[in-house]
Amino acid sequence: MSFESNLNSIQENIKAACDRAGRAPSEVKLLAVSKGHSIESIREAAEYGVNHFGENKIQESKLKVSQGPRSAEWHFIGHLQTNKSRDAVRLFHMIHSIDSMRLAEAIQENCEKQARTARILLEVNISGEASKHGFRPDEVLDQLEDLNALDRLEIHGFMTMAPWTPEPEKSRPTFKGLNELRLRCEDAMGVPFPVMSMGMSNDYEIAIEEGATIVRIGTELFGKRSYKKKQSKPPQNQTL
Ligand SMILES: *Cc1c(COP(=O)(O)O)cnc(C)c1O
Repeated sequence: MSFESNLNSIQENIKAACDRAGRAPSEVKLLAVSKGHSIESIREAAEYGVNHFGENKIQESKLKVSQGPRSAEWHFIGHLQTNKSRDAVRLFHMIHSIDSMRLAEAIQENCEKQARTARILLEVNISGEASKHGFRPDEVLDQLEDLNALDRLEIHGFMTMAPWTPEPEKSRPTFKGLNELRLRCEDAMGVPFPVMSMGMSNDYEIAIEEGATIVRIGTELFGKRSYKKKQSKPPQNQTL
């Protein structure tokens, strides 16, 4: 399938999910998850007006941010080690994956050094799967005040990942759970946390029905990822 037809069908699905939920499609941002895809794929996406890209590795991002289209806005969606905070602050429009107080403090410190602020989302492990990163919901409520006191961090909202399942409907409780947590946090702090980053290729329509404002879509848009570590070299002994 071509990028264009993938994009068209995703946009139609987003619109249909918004219709079902009584929401405006303009409330939902499509984040094109470009991890594992080339700069050329990113440039092609930009030609079709896609300008928000998600990456999950700092090393891979450096090259893409420097060589990608000028119009691009970069979002970090992977697990972030504290020792990469400096780069993360420098490279990204938004970091979706703040998953501990320690990481939040490291981001704060690097923002101070760089005289910047960071737009962040708190990643929450709603499903409780041991393999997932993120705050537990009760930790978010306990630590929100301290997190909010970090004055270089703008907490825009929350991010979650549902357990993988071939049946998207099974992701719904996770997405509902994130929305409930968001409402409790807004109540507790008396400020809005409008951004909810949830839903991937297999479950974004359900996420939209449950209030997602950013859907993170890779495979459905770009096709399968090629997890190459290095720029591919032409095979040896190839006769051209
Ligand atoms: C890879 C990734 C995605 C996109 O996954 P697809 O199934 O390819 O759409 C979304 N969110 C996060 C955090 C990811 O790591």
